[in-house]
Amino acid sequence: MHNASIIIDKSQFIRNLQAISSWVNRNPPVASNRLNKVKFCLPVKANAYGHGLVKIAQIAEEYVDYLAVACLDEGITLRQNGIKKPILVFGAFSQEQIYDLIIHNLEITISSLLKARMVMDVCQKLKLSCKVHIKIDTGMNRVGVRSENVHVLIDFILNSDCMKLVGVYSHLASSDIPGNEFTYKQIKEFNEIVAFVKETNPEVICHLANSGGVCYYPESYLDMVRPGIFSYGYLPGNNAVDDVLKTVQPCFSLKSQIIYFKVVAKGSAISYNQQYVTNRQTRIVTVPLGYGDGYRRALSNCGEVLIHGHKYTVSGTICMDIFMVDIGPDGEAYIGDEVVLIGRQGAYEITLTSVANKCQTITYEILCGFNERLPRIYV
Ligand SMILES: *Cc1c(COP(=O)(O)O)cnc(C)c1O
Repeated sequence: MHNASIIIDKSQFIRNLQAISSWVNRNPPVASNRLNKVKFCLPVKANAYGHGLVKIAQIAEEYVDYLAVACLDEGITLRQNGIKKPILVFGAFSQEQIYDLIIHNLEITISSLLKARMVMDVCQKLKLSCKVHIKIDTGMNRVGVRSENVHVLIDFILNSDCMKLVGVYSHLASSDIPGNEFTYKQIKEFNEIVAFVKETNPEVICHLANSGGVCYYPESYLDMVRPGIFSYGYLPGNNAVDDVLKTVQPCFSLKSQIIYFKVVAKGSAISYNQQYVTNRQTRIVTVPLGYGDGYRRALSNCGEVLIHGHKYTVSGTICMDIFMVDIGPDGEAYIGDEVVLIGRQGAYEITLTSVANKCQTITYEILCGFNERLPRIYV
């Protein structure tokens, strides 16, 4: 028994993957020029959005075609744990990382001619080949070769005998908003490159859709989709989705247990700097979890928890490892009782979205903030 843990509902996660797969392959085909099944690439970067990198990859492996990570270390961890599926590394690499990318059979993102030459040099020295995806910048201005320079890069890679071009991709900046002009512009620009690539190399996987693309832009599906946050059960923004997608739901909950209990007099200050003072004699319970685990300090005096099916508010500032809750003079809760911080208990639910809103951030950032101190339990 842990003081606090993250519980992942495996079957809900699998239902999400299945629902998204059938949605992007729904009939009649949503994209006119499509013959093959749309492939599914599951982003598992940032510890699988806090859900646990290796375990999530293992569960997902039979339901998806590809996995994607942000950096070399995440890719190596997956390979060392026996993951066999293709793994795309989204991030830009440095010279020292090329050798490891190649020997671990990780698919490399190339975003300039310079990077392509660096990879080619290492391949030639090692007498090994590698698989690459070209990243095109259609509007993020992050990494990626600009459309006007892409033809030279494509030709360079196609003519090299050690780099195999398996994919071409770009990333959408505003796809969480349906009907967005900027997104249509990005899709159009990317499609021009797709047409150029497919003319000579129809087998190259062209991919563009993130969660927003999957939810709102069927034009962006192409050969493969890469939904991250939506695979874990959250909408990418504040816009509703088709009813068919209502089966996609969170599979993550955060639970703890009461570790201490005391009765305090009226006028007692709770936690650092006296930010909460009791207005009556009351019962205070202590929960062994804090910002050192990723339960954000912004939730001081406003976060909510569920205990015995009742909703209570965090009392006072959240400490690094602990916080307190005033359960009232008649509150019934004792050491060992369950405390739900995110998820359901009885008739109530505390959603990740409500937590993110209270912290003035997005669900993604709260999820990534839960660190290794919290065990992940898969049920
Ligand atoms: C993180 C990432 C995704 C997934 O984004 P979501 O908004 O979580 O769907 C897709 N593609 C790239 C290149 C990414 O970096």
